[in-house]
Amino acid sequence: FVAPLEDANERLGRAWGQVAHLHAVLDSPELRAAYNDNLPKVTQYWTELGQNQALFAKYRALGASAQFAALTPARRRIVENALRDFRLGGAELPAEQKPRYAQIQEELAQLSARFSENLLDATNAWSLVIEDEKRVAGIPQDVLQAARQEGRRAWKFTLHMPSYLPVMQYADDRALREEMYRASATRAAEFGKAEMDNTPLIARILPLRREIAHLLGYPSYAEVSLVPKMADSPGQVIGFLEDLARRARPHAERDLDELRAFAREELGLAPLESWDIAYASEKLRQKRYAFSDQEVKQYFPEDAVLAGLFRLVGTLYGVRVAPASAAVWHEDVRFFDVHDADGSLVGQFYLDLYARDTKRGGAWMDDARARRRRDAAIQTPVAYLTCNFSRPVGGKPALFTHDDVITLFHEFGHGLHHLLTRVEDLGVSGISGVEWDAVELPSQFMENFCWEWDVLRHLARHVDTGEPLPRALYDKMLAAKNFQSGLAMLRQIEFSVFDMRLHWDFDPAAQRSAQQLLQEVRAKVAVLVPPEWNRFPNSFSHIFAGGYAAGYYSYKWAEVLSADAYGAFEESRSVTDPSTGARFRDEVLAVGGSRPAAESFRAFRGG
Ligand code: ZN
Repeated sequence: FVAPLEDANERLGRAWGQVAHLHAVLDSPELRAAYNDNLPKVTQYWTELGQNQALFAKYRALGASAQFAALTPARRRIVENALRDFRLGGAELPAEQKPRYAQIQEELAQLSARFSENLLDATNAWSLVIEDEKRVAGIPQDVLQAARQEGRRAWKFTLHMPSYLPVMQYADDRALREEMYRASATRAAEFGKAEMDNTPLIARILPLRREIAHLLGYPSYAEVSLVPKMADSPGQVIGFLEDLARRARPHAERDLDELRAFAREELGLAPLESWDIAYASEKLRQKRYAFSDQEVKQYFPEDAVLAGLFRLVGTLYGVRVAPASAAVWHEDVRFFDVHDADGSLVGQFYLDLYARDTKRGGAWMDDARARRRRDAAIQTPVAYLTCNFSRPVGGKPALFTHDDVITLFHEFGHGLHHLLTRVEDLGVSGISGVEWDAVELPSQFMENFCWEWDVLRHLARHVDTGEPLPRALYDKMLAAKNFQSGLAMLRQIEFSVFDMRLHWDFDPAAQRSAQQLLQEVRAKVAVLVPPEWNRFPNSFSHIFAGGYAAGYYSYKWAEVLSADAYGAFEESRSVTDPSTGARFRDEVLAVGGSRPAAESFRAFRGG
């Protein structure tokens, strides 16, 4: 009975998955209306399915039968996950509580959709046109070229990352940086249009999540969220984060003292404000390590980066990536085949790299179709890879910063996890059924290669001259690798602690807002405290519109695993050693969710 049920659910999942994907990357009033009209129906279907007594009874009987022991490990895990999900889906609730559970799920789905729509609308609602050339001093030429208004001497800046980040990093005009920082940090908050304000949504989402937890018999939503994860309890996660914070703090304090002293003495910026940090940091880095992000960017044209990435995965895993064709939703989008060493098709992916008004911010991988056996044939997996990089300007290929390259490798790591699976059952194929706090292992693992000379020298070439990356520039990049890493670490910990406490010991019924909790967390964890009017929670899509609620710590959790996994490559003859790559493919990427992540990790790394 599991197979026909999977068939039926896959049909709905794929159809709705396409709509949800377009809602995220090609938003329009019509699509948004259609999405929101149908969201309650789809949510209702999954809720009812999760509480279906007849199915629950069949899974329970299967789990207790002699047949169960004869199943493959992957199938046993699917049954175990299903039983767990029935319980978390409210299948054991008394009949009179089920309608309330369903009602909450429906409302939460709508609130999440609304949260990301508001954020996109608020991002698009703001722009700044500058006509005074003096005000754009310091901003790199390619950024100005992209901002240039047709037919007149004026530049338009927006809150989309390819426009926002370089202004914060390079604009000499402090007032311009402040204006943009303020616009970005107050998006979707009470200062703007009421219909785009995410504050009431947050105030509604949190008590609803708590109510779900109470219905299911858990003290908080954090406990519910952790059931299918590697971590055991919110206390364990907080302990892990606090330990990291303690170790990172002295480094972060030193980073900040240096930055403050430099900004005061060399740039005349005192006190150092939030809108000075990226600017002063870039200047300090240029002074200390004698190179700029902008200089590095010239060596990372898109075509060279993609070719280098595909070459790397060819060496590591023996796969070949080649352009292919398929219907796409936007002219920016490309499609690729991935072939195995024997020439067989392993999977395919869409690549949608550039920022645009209709696309949600950030970068992510999503599955369009998962690998599974269909009778005698194998259905190959398909992935969506989405980023928000600068598009090409001035007839040149798009130029990526080194951070962009790292982001691309990260998402490609998720893509490989989805595409290189050998599992034949949908429920644990690719990233399905993988514990959420282990899901960032293959992605963060891939980031390491962006720092390897043997990888970069094949990947980077100057956009105008075609020259390879100079060894001297690489050495400077490497020397600067840990520049301000203490500050970056504490920032991630601050978000992780905020997210965990928000869903754990924070009582949404008390007279205290999420913003107030964040300020409390900052007072304890952060060394850099943003202005009082900074409304970070209002744009924290990961936890309010994504799947990371009480799970943002996953980045730090999996980083430890990924660093350890990468150690195996560093200990090999070369970091691109194919036999170590093959083992990583076999023990981690190929097995998907068919066994616990800790087992896969041990199988690869030993111990
Ligand atoms: Zn990721």
